[in-house]
Amino acid sequence: MNFEFTIKQQHVAEQAQAIARDLDLSDIGARDYAGQFSKALFKQVINAGVGLWLLPKSMQGDDLNASELCAGIESLAEHCEDSGLIFALSAHLCACIHPIRAFGSIEQKHQWLPKLSSEAWLGAHAITEQQAGSDIYGMTTRADKYDHGFILTGNKHYITNAPFCDFIVVHVRTADAGNYFDFSTFILDRQTPCVSVTQTPHSKSGLRTTAMGDITFSTCQLSDDALIGRLGAGAPIFQVSMEWERVCLFALYLGQMKRQLKKTVQFLSQRQQFGSKLAEFQAVQHQVSDMYSNYESARLLLYKAAWGLDRGDTSGVSSALAKLAVSQAAISNAQMAVQLHGAQGVLSGDIERMLRDAMPSAIFSGTTNVLKNNLSTSLFKRLQADWL
Ligand SMILES: Cc1cc2nc3c(=O)[nH]c(=O)nc-3n(C[C@H](O)[C@H](O)[C@H](O)COP(=O)(O)OP(=O)(O)OC[C@H]3O[C@@H](n4cnc5c(N)ncnc54)[C@H](O)[C@@H]3O)c2cc1C
Repeated sequence: MNFEFTIKQQHVAEQAQAIARDLDLSDIGARDYAGQFSKALFKQVINAGVGLWLLPKSMQGDDLNASELCAGIESLAEHCEDSGLIFALSAHLCACIHPIRAFGSIEQKHQWLPKLSSEAWLGAHAITEQQAGSDIYGMTTRADKYDHGFILTGNKHYITNAPFCDFIVVHVRTADAGNYFDFSTFILDRQTPCVSVTQTPHSKSGLRTTAMGDITFSTCQLSDDALIGRLGAGAPIFQVSMEWERVCLFALYLGQMKRQLKKTVQFLSQRQQFGSKLAEFQAVQHQVSDMYSNYESARLLLYKAAWGLDRGDTSGVSSALAKLAVSQAAISNAQMAVQLHGAQGVLSGDIERMLRDAMPSAIFSGTTNVLKNNLSTSLFKRLQADWL
C-alpha cells in the first residue's frame, strides 16, 4: 500500500494552491453577508487551468481521475476562504462535466466541453423536486418522446448554480414502468425557450456564496441529441454523478478542515488566559486532538473511496462511508473551532463561516439517514454472502 500522493496528484495540488492564492477574496465577508456568488472568480479559476482538469486528453485536457480531482479540490479549499465558490465549482465539475465526459457521445463532447473550458460556462445539475428530495425516484418532471425529439415539463428545486448557469444537466422521468429504467438524463442550454430559473438565489445559512435556485421547464422542445447516454439510462448516470460528488466534491471539506486546524492551532498558541497559552491546557489539547483525528480518519476514507472509484467501484459503499465521515467531521470540527476561539469564534469571519458552510454537508448528495439506510442494506447483503 502507498499513502503518498502520486506526482500527478502533487502537481494538481500545487497548481490549485497557486490558483487559490491569486484570488482576490478581500470582499468575501461582504459577499457572504449579501449571499453573492462571484462568477468572475469562477471564471478566473477555470481560466487559470481548472477548466482543463476533466477534459479528455484527446481535447488537450488533463483528464484527471477521481483521486487526482480530490487532490485539486482539497488544495483549492485549503487555500481559498470562499468555500461557497469551491462548492459551486466542484458541483459543476463532478455532476455536470463528469457525466458528459463519461456518458456523452463524441458529438456531445465536442459540442459542450470546449465551451466549458474556453468560455467558462457554468453548469447546474438538476434532480431534486419539491416532493422528490430523498425519495428521488418519485420525481414527476418528465420528457415525452415525439417524432423529432422530446417535450420536457416540470420543476426542479434547490439547484446549485441555477441562477447563474449557462447549461443544465437534468434527470427526468421518461417512462412509468415502475422500475430502474424509467429515467433519462438530458443536457440543454439555459437559454432554451421555455426554461425559466429563479433570478434571486435562495437565502441559505451556509454556502451563501454559492447561488441556489429553482428551474421550471414549460413544455420545452428538445432535440434527440439532448439525451445523454441511452433512453432509460438516467438512474445509473445519476448514481455515478452522486459517487463523484460524494467523493470528489467532499474533498472540499478536507481542505476546509485543514485550514481550520491551522488557524485554530495558531490562535491557541497565541491567546493567553490564566497566565498560560490556551494551547497549554490539557482539555484544549484533547479538543485539538479530536479535530485532528476526525480530519485524518475522514481523509483516509475519502481517498480510499476515490481509489476505489478509479478502479470501477460504484457500489456506493465506500462513497457513503466517506461522505458520512467527512460531513460528520466537518460539522464537529467546525463546532469545536468556534468553541476554542471563544467570542472570536462567533464574530463574522472564516471560523464561524466554516461552521455554517459545513452544516449542509449532511444534507446534499444524499442525507445522512438515507446513506445510513443504504449502508446497512449493503452490510446485511455482504454479511449474508460472507463478503465484507
Ligand atoms: C446546499 C445544497 C445544495 C443542493 N444542491 C442541489 C443540486 O445542485 N441539485 C439537486 O438536484 N439538489 C440539490 N440539493 C437538494 C438536496 O439533494 C436535497 O435537499 C436532499 O436530497 C434532501 O431532500 P429534502 O431536502 O427534500 O429532504 P427530505 O428528503 O424531505 O428529508 C428530510 C429529512 O428526513 C430524512 N429522511 C427522508 N427519508 C428518510 C428515510 N427513508 N429514512 C430516514 N430518514 C429519512 C432525511 O434524512 C432528512 O433528515 C441541494 C441541497 C442543499 C442543502
